[in-house]
Amino acid sequence: MKALIAGAGIGGLTTALFLHRAGIDVEIFESAKEVRELGVGINMLPHAVGLLTELGLIDDLDAAGIRTRELIYANRFGQVVWHELRGIDAGLPAPQFSIHRGKLLGLIHRAVVERMGPGVIRTDVG
Ligand SMILES: Cc1cc2nc3c(=O)[nH]c(=O)nc-3n(C[C@H](O)[C@H](O)[C@H](O)COP(=O)(O)OP(=O)(O)OC[C@H]3O[C@@H](n4cnc5c(N)ncnc54)[C@H](O)[C@@H]3O)c2cc1C
Repeated sequence: MKALIAGAGIGGLTTALFLHRAGIDVEIFESAKEVRELGVGINMLPHAVGLLTELGLIDDLDAAGIRTRELIYANRFGQVVWHELRGIDAGLPAPQFSIHRGKLLGLIHRAVVERMGPGVIRTDVG
């Protein structure tokens, strides 16, 4: 069996890593001319970090992002409206990460290429 994945974004590439781990052959089709590390800073919640940890990517996440200890909402005078601990500091089994989307995509993309070879992603199609 071979799985065909449309889109080499965070979702498509992560799906490819899990299918590969399960022994299923994959081919990924990406409409862009190349996989580029684009985006803004995002927060990756612990349940998602737990899945990437299962894939052996926690060291790469630590190298590319920052473990988020606390979420704080403040008004324009700097007065705290709400705050709560996050990730491991909140007692969860996995950390939360503040990370640039492009760097996150880049580390998942590198894992796909290292584990499955560059030919697994076909760009400029779709
Ligand atoms: C400003 C902003 C802030 C965000 N902040 C957060 C956050 O803090 N935390 C969080 O978890 N999420 C956040 N998100 C959402 C997160 O970025 C998305 O949920 C995530 O990128 C979705 O991954 P994806 O793989 O589904 O889509 P994408 O990463 O968008 O990838 C889709 C890929 O499919 C390709 N494609 C599209 N159509 C086709 C086709 N027909 N054929 C082939 N390829 C195709 C595209 O070129 C693209 O490469 C944010 C999003 C934005 C815009």
